[in-house]
Amino acid sequence: MSYVSNPCTRCGKERILLKKWTEEIQGYGDNKMKVTRSLNVCPDPECKKIVDAELKVKKNKRTQLKDEREKKLLEAKKRKIEIKE
Ligand SMILES: [Zn+2]
Repeated sequence: MSYVSNPCTRCGKERILLKKWTEEIQGYGDNKMKVTRSLNVCPDPECKKIVDAELKVKKNKRTQLKDEREKKLLEAKKRKIEIKE
């Protein structure tokens, strides 16, 4: 595996790998895809705190968007069933 530089967006210090995990994400229809995700953090605890706070805001936004998308998909599915019946 080749090394990829992953500097902190705030201070430019090389980030360290905190954890790695696989996630199942919803693809088109009923397809599920497995993706590998990794979390890299800044080695500077003070800087990490600030970055973490920023990430939290972004994550909340993403969760909101995902929820809305899932709701729409569910509604579309329901509608299809209703038309069939
Ligand atoms: Zn940093």
